[in-house]
Amino acid sequence: MTYILALDQGTTSSRAILFDREGSICGVAQKEFAQHFPKPGWVEHDPMEIWSSQVSVASEVLSRHSVPPSQVVAIGITNQRETTVLWDRKTGRPLHNALVWQDRRTADFCSKMRTSHGPLITEKTGLIPDAYFSASKIAWLLDNVEGARQKAERGELAVGTIDSWLTWRLTSGKLHVTDVSNASRTMLFNLHTMDWDEELLQLFRVPRELLPEVRDSSEVYGETDSELFGKPIPVAGMAGDQQSALFGQMCVEKGLSKSTYGTGCFMLLNIGDKPIPSKNRLLTTVAWRQGGKTQYALEGSVFIGGAVVQWLRDGLKIIEAASDVEALARTENDNGGVYLVPAFAGLGAPHWDQFARGTMVGLTRGTTSGHIARAALEGIAFQVADVLDAMQADSDLQLKELRVDGGACKNDLLMQTQADILGLPIVRPEVTETTALGAAYLAGLAVGYWKDLSEVASQWKAERRFEPQIGETERADQRAKWKRALQRAGGWEEEES
Ligand code: ADP
Repeated sequence: MTYILALDQGTTSSRAILFDREGSICGVAQKEFAQHFPKPGWVEHDPMEIWSSQVSVASEVLSRHSVPPSQVVAIGITNQRETTVLWDRKTGRPLHNALVWQDRRTADFCSKMRTSHGPLITEKTGLIPDAYFSASKIAWLLDNVEGARQKAERGELAVGTIDSWLTWRLTSGKLHVTDVSNASRTMLFNLHTMDWDEELLQLFRVPRELLPEVRDSSEVYGETDSELFGKPIPVAGMAGDQQSALFGQMCVEKGLSKSTYGTGCFMLLNIGDKPIPSKNRLLTTVAWRQGGKTQYALEGSVFIGGAVVQWLRDGLKIIEAASDVEALARTENDNGGVYLVPAFAGLGAPHWDQFARGTMVGLTRGTTSGHIARAALEGIAFQVADVLDAMQADSDLQLKELRVDGGACKNDLLMQTQADILGLPIVRPEVTETTALGAAYLAGLAVGYWKDLSEVASQWKAERRFEPQIGETERADQRAKWKRALQRAGGWEEEES
């Protein structure tokens, strides 16, 4: 028996998952690590803890399932995106904690950048200038860690996203590489030339020598240091978490899309081999590059998805566990006229309103906790529908179905509601660990563990399909009411101050 080992380095935990040739999960190990909040809005991780947690779960999953390293054909890496590490090439030690994607310390710098160079940056990178992406984080590290800029100019330092950092450590400093999907989240990578962009490097004052070499998402980059697992294992796949999930969902053709329902919701649409610029405030990003062929995606993120269910649990205390929300919502047949806009942290794509706040409208004396639970689930589905509309408008593609994954996709009522609101079938796969599966597929394809895409595509199986059950008039009526609720949530903070 042989396996592919996927390393899934997330924002709150590191996981290692073993997949067999059928694409089935044969073992999982997971370890949480510390979040550091040195100041309001600052979020850091210790890169050494990221590394030690990741390598320990990899060893753990192998030993727990008695899999010797000789039976691991390849390793695939998927990771939290944009998070940035700066380290010393000679010692391999980080100069500072990693600046996490959520870190807002460079927000002012980025909003000035948006005013002065917004269209140029968007045209080149497909991104909207924001502290979210790596470029301003690299600049901050170079300007704020003592001596870093001088060392960088002397070529003594390396910078990278988590994929680069892990590969460097796995190969004991032999490889300083990244893949195109991770590179496309730095805001320094040109989607058209598929290379670091000289003008952007100058704008953000980042020396090119600091950056990793950009490679395909599926190729043998090198082997792990033989001391690590007792035998070298090829590292052969790499992609950012959302792109990896798109691959794991086998959305490998233009027009296929997936939506992940976790804390937030992330929707990606495969747009084929051209980076279509968005006219509707979505991001254009590299999905992956395989055999030198690039696929692009449109991406829209909703900040509060499953998190609204956490709020029902921890804030309102009307449920005990997240999964109870479905039973509570089913105590009512409809929302009773209640609409809940969960703009707790402003609104993401396609509204981008950082001053919006959570709003509940349509309350009457007959409103019950069941109506509120239903309105909360509908609020998730309406937000995803708004992103999907923007995607269809940008791409001129008429979607045929939406594939789903993430913790909240287990909720049948939410999935049925999503199908109703979209007027589109929702398809839930058997394996919902699609992020890790995508990395496993990318690695396995590179080493010939799987013959080709059609072989892995044949493994993808739907567990359940949700067909729309309401008519066009009812759908239009609900969407119109949601729009009115959205207007009431918009700009609330600004009005107050
Ligand atoms: P993340 O990867 O962002 O941590 P997960 O994919 O693990 O998220 O999903 C967790 C989220 O899903 C939580 O916000 C939780 O409230 C929500 N969730 C979990 N189970 C359900 C359910 N049955 N119905 C609705 N939401 C759920």
